Amino acid sequence: MKKNFSPETLCVQGGWTPKKGEPRVLPIYQSTTFKYDTSEQMAQLFDLEAEGYFYTRLQNPTNDAVAAKIAALEGGVAAMLTSSGQAANFYAIFNICHAGDHFVSTSSIYGGTYNLFAVTMKKLGIEVTFVDQDADNETILAAFRPNTKLLFGETIANPGCSVLDIERMAQIAHSKGVPLIVDNTFATPINCRPFEWGCDIVTHSTTKYMDGHATAVGGVIVDSGNFDWEAHHDRFTCLTEPDPSYHGLVYTERFGKGAYITKATSQVMRDLGSIQSPQNAFLLNLGLETLHLRMQRHCENAQKVAEFLQSDERVAWVHYCGLPNDKYYKLGQKYLPNGSCGVISFGLKGGRDISIRFMDNLKLAAIVTHVADARTCVLHPASHTHRQLSDEQLREAGVEPDLIRLSVGIENVDDIIADLKQALDA
Ligand SMILES: *Cc1c(COP(=O)(O)O)cnc(C)c1O
Repeated sequence: MKKNFSPETLCVQGGWTPKKGEPRVLPIYQSTTFKYDTSEQMAQLFDLEAEGYFYTRLQNPTNDAVAAKIAALEGGVAAMLTSSGQAANFYAIFNICHAGDHFVSTSSIYGGTYNLFAVTMKKLGIEVTFVDQDADNETILAAFRPNTKLLFGETIANPGCSVLDIERMAQIAHSKGVPLIVDNTFATPINCRPFEWGCDIVTHSTTKYMDGHATAVGGVIVDSGNFDWEAHHDRFTCLTEPDPSYHGLVYTERFGKGAYITKATSQVMRDLGSIQSPQNAFLLNLGLETLHLRMQRHCENAQKVAEFLQSDERVAWVHYCGLPNDKYYKLGQKYLPNGSCGVISFGLKGGRDISIRFMDNLKLAAIVTHVADARTCVLHPASHTHRQLSDEQLREAGVEPDLIRLSVGIENVDDIIADLKQALDA
C-alpha cells in the first residue's frame, strides 16, 4: 500500500493488500511453522540471507500485515508487534542498551514503565536518570553521561496528561548523538506523528486506543529509519559491529535503514520471545480500521467533559491540554492540533477520600484498570496503577494523590456528563 495515502485510508486498508483470489479480510495465520522444500532454503532463513517465514516467534504474516499498517500510519520504515506495551518499551531500549549503559527518561510516564526503568532495568545493570520534561535544556543535558544511549518520553503522559515538547527533546538527544524514543500510546498516529518532529523510534501499548475495545493486550515498536547509527559507530557497536549469533553479520551494513528493527526481531525477539499472538494481531487490526473515527469522537467528548468539570465548583483542578488555560495548551496546539485524546485527569475539592467516594458513585463510568477504550472508565492511580510508587515518585511522575484519571469513551457525551454530575451531587 502506497505511503502517501492519508491516515484514514491507511487505517482501513493499510498493511494487507490481497492478490487475486485471496481473502479480502486479513486472515489469521494460526500456524507456528511454515513449510520449505529443501534443507538449504531453511538454512538461508536462519542466516538472514533469504526473507521468508519459518517460525512465528520470529515472524508471522498476520502480525507483519498489522505491523506494516502501523508503520505506515506513523510514517516509519518498519515495525514489530510485541505481546504488550511493557514488552515494546523494554525491547525498544534493550535493543541498544546493555549492562553498564545508561539512558535518560522524562519522569512523567506510565507507572508500569517507571517501575520497569527504575527497578527491573537496574537489576539488569542498565541505569536511568529521570528528568522533568519541562526543565530547561541545560538541566536536561546535564543528565547525559558518556554511556547514555537514548532519551525517552511520552507524547501525552499517562496519567498526568502533560504534553512532550518532542521537537526540543529530539534536538537535545541528537546533540548528544543518541536517538529519541517516544511512547505515542495516548495520542496515536491519528493525532500526532512524532517522527515528523525528529523522534527516531516510537512505541505503543496497542492495548489502548489502537485496539480500542479492551480485547487484546499488545504493543508495537516503530522505527523511523532516520537515526544514523554509523555516525555514532562506537556508541552503537551492537548495530555497527559483527553479531556473533549470526556468523558476524553487521546490521547497519546488511539492513541500512532497517538495521534497528531487524535486530529487534532477529535477536531480541528471537531470544526473549514476547510475541503478539496472530489472534490478537487480528483483533488489533479490527480496532485500527476505526481508529480515526474513534479518536475524533474521544476528543470531542473529552473536550466537552473537561469544560464541564472545569466549570463545576466542586472540582479543584483539571488537566486537559484542550483547555485554553491548561499548562500544556500551547504544546497541545503545536503537536496535537486536531485533538489530544480522551483522557482527562482531575481532582476534587476535599481531596483523596472525596475522590474515592465520587468514583464509587459513578454508574456509567466503570472503575477498571484500563484506559483509552470505547467505554468510559475511571481509575485512581495512587491506589491502583501507581500503587507501588512512593509519594515522592508519585509527584515526580506527575500524579497528585487525589488525581482521578477519567478515560472518556465514545458514548453520547450528555450521558457521560449526566453520570459525572449525579456522582458529584451524591
Ligand atoms: C498501558 C501503557 C503501557 C503498558 O502497556 P501494556 O500493554 O499494558 O503492557 C505503556 N505505556 C503507556 C503510555 C501506557 O498507557
